[in-house]
Amino acid sequence: LEAQFAQSQKMQAVGQLAGGVAHDFNNLLTAIIGFSDLLLLKHKPGDPSFNELMQIKQNANRAAGLTRQLLAFSRRQTLRPQVLELPLIVDDLTVLLKRMIGEKNNLTVEHGRNIWPVRADVVQLEQVIINLVVNARDAMPNGGSITLRTSNVTQAEAAGMKFEGMVAADYVLIDVEDTGTGMSSEVLAKIFEPFFTTKELGKGTGLGLSTVYGIVKQTEGFIYPVSTVGVGTTFKIFLPRYVPTPEEAAAKAAIASAPAK
Ligand code: ADP
Repeated sequence: LEAQFAQSQKMQAVGQLAGGVAHDFNNLLTAIIGFSDLLLLKHKPGDPSFNELMQIKQNANRAAGLTRQLLAFSRRQTLRPQVLELPLIVDDLTVLLKRMIGEKNNLTVEHGRNIWPVRADVVQLEQVIINLVVNARDAMPNGGSITLRTSNVTQAEAAGMKFEGMVAADYVLIDVEDTGTGMSSEVLAKIFEPFFTTKELGKGTGLGLSTVYGIVKQTEGFIYPVSTVGVGTTFKIFLPRYVPTPEEAAAKAAIASAPAK
């Protein structure tokens, strides 16, 4: 299970990298192939530079083929954003999470009342929660407590929070709290960087939090760590409250008021 998880983390990070890089590369390669074509028009087979030019063009074509494969790979991970109840997603994961953290750690789940819906990809949200809980476990070598807490944060409350860059709006907040080692400010400054890890070789990929960060950003949310060395860490994830568009609301009302058959 752990190995599978590390693998899927790697695949996702590679996919995201590959997608972005391949797209830019393809544009550059198109230019290289185009200019080689222009130069080839000015030479005839047998001319001094003809073979070298052909080599450049053929290899650029090969590289273009490779980038197309990379693009195809990164596009396989299609997202399906849906309107979701975060507490249900968390509850569905608890059995798996308890297995992952083992007997020496406690998992507590606390949900606020009437938690607003959010719009996100289920698989991605699960990945966020699993990543954070695995990190929490790893930060508690002698065992400890992990608490998952959901709550609504109103725009007014959000405006009062002093988190850098956060936009005041209605959010659903999930806190992932542990009683682990905590992080120094040096570590905190780097945790979202891909491949940053303090875990021993083979234990960490350094891709967990960068993946989490990417997903939270994609969902137009915010993530903040609050950590004290020797006390523990809380990752706070703010996801925008889902509010139906007028069209969606009208469509829902129409279904609700349709005569029952
Ligand atoms: P990995 O888990 O593979 O090391 P991550 O990107 O998930 O990669 O985490 C990067 C680093 O952030 C970890 O190696 C660890 O030093 C630190 N970290 C993450 N979560 C916690 C936590 N809950 N408590 C203490 N340190 C943490």
